[in-house]
Amino acid sequence: MPGAVRPGPCALRRTGPHPPHAARGTTASGSFSAVSSAVSDFIEQTRLAARAFADFGGHLFNPTVRLGVTGLSRAGKTVFITALVHGLIRGGRFPVFEPLANGRIAGARLAPQPDDAVPRFDYERHVRAIVIDREWPDSTRQISELRVVIDYQTSGGAMRTLTLDIVDYPGEWLLDLPLLGKTYEQWSAETLSHLRRAARPPLPKPFLEQIAAVDPLAAADENAAIEAARLFTTYLHACRKEHRTLSLVSPGRFLMPGDLAGSPALTFAPLDVPAGQEAPSGSNWAMMRRRYDAYRDVVVRPFFREHFARLDRQIVLVDALAALDGGPEAVRDLQDALTAVLECSRVGRGGWLDALFRPSVDRILFAATKADLIHHASHDRLEAWLRRLTESAVARAGDAGAAVDVIALAAVRATREATVRGEGGELPTIVGTAVPGEWSDGRHFDGTTEIALFPGDLPAEGLQGGDFRSIRFRPPALEETDDGAPALPHIRLDRALQFLIGDRLR
Ligand code: GDP
Repeated sequence: MPGAVRPGPCALRRTGPHPPHAARGTTASGSFSAVSSAVSDFIEQTRLAARAFADFGGHLFNPTVRLGVTGLSRAGKTVFITALVHGLIRGGRFPVFEPLANGRIAGARLAPQPDDAVPRFDYERHVRAIVIDREWPDSTRQISELRVVIDYQTSGGAMRTLTLDIVDYPGEWLLDLPLLGKTYEQWSAETLSHLRRAARPPLPKPFLEQIAAVDPLAAADENAAIEAARLFTTYLHACRKEHRTLSLVSPGRFLMPGDLAGSPALTFAPLDVPAGQEAPSGSNWAMMRRRYDAYRDVVVRPFFREHFARLDRQIVLVDALAALDGGPEAVRDLQDALTAVLECSRVGRGGWLDALFRPSVDRILFAATKADLIHHASHDRLEAWLRRLTESAVARAGDAGAAVDVIALAAVRATREATVRGEGGELPTIVGTAVPGEWSDGRHFDGTTEIALFPGDLPAEGLQGGDFRSIRFRPPALEETDDGAPALPHIRLDRALQFLIGDRLR
């Protein structure tokens, strides 16, 4: 059962009025910036309350659950949402999703999505890719939404409707939220200390060498800022490609800049700023700080207000097998990222306005995805490992005020299991159709060949690094449910659904 955790301090509230390195003096510019930051915090709180009040009124007449689906790039968000919605509207094989299993769901349908400024999740295209073309769909690049309306019968027999708003957003944006609680000086110090500890490739050497030549107190140099931001971004990209430093992908929009590419709000980097001083006006330091603050104002705060603060439930998808494959450092990073997610869920809790108006995340599910790439004998181990990681993240993050659960799942099960007799005895294998272009054991596949693969075992204790292999398999052909409906095979997708919305369909 999920462990309950309690509210704590939030990132919207500042961790302290002064940066640790800045003088706590009473310079005119220092007191002006303290006042202006207090005013902007107040304005932000007012906007949040207004937004929450509007949602609160709407939900009174139209019960709604806003479900956030997040995870770092390639974690499996697009596939998860597509499979979940397909299962809901086409009646998937979901024995553990109680309202569907007991026949209390009369039907589910897509409805026009409510937020005019947010792109719609392209369900039809993604489902066509998986079901008809048997290809994986294009991955999440930005935020999108989809509305599903579920007609159901309560346990007491009354007919009701629940609106499920699914919000798909990159985990890189979520990991930006802690920036709201950090000054530029704090962020710089933490980031640089992390970079200097990096022990294996990709190493941030070119970036560190470049900023060593930038004097924070000297007159602002735009070209130096552009070069620092470029090298820093290159490093973040390299980390993401290696599935490494998951916790240090912030600022997330450096990796997915969209309309803001090249803007000053995305042209900053951490600098070694001296302790006990104020940033001289017109200096590199002052320029970087101003841009960091702009990033928080134009990117992070609107995301928090318009999307994150409005979520009721959250699933965080984790490509745990990739992290395991990446070794102990990747595992430590994953744990830092989980802690950061839990800290984010404390954001904005605790004030009287929150208590009155703001719906906030009360259930968080951490899901290790792609469990079909290992044998079922290892599923429990994967889940137990993620659970241990989450428990220590909960202990570090403190009380997050939400029920937390952990699951190993495959939103779309691309493999089946078989036993193959080899020289060393019987081997538990997974069988599937390798995607075109995939290689294994020196063989090249064209997308039509079924292969049996021994993925290796996850050890019972002390999972630290990869002892398994995986290749990409094509999505499977549809199965039929007992009623003859076409369904996508999955692993524990129904258990995830039960945790996330089962209680709202009683
Ligand atoms: P996103 O970036 O989080 O939206 O990730 P996607 O949902 O696009 O998934 C990235 C890739 O992971 C896909 O192209 C698939 O190769 C793989 N994948 C995702 N979910 C599953 C799954 O349930 N089973 C298997 N075998 N592969 C999956």
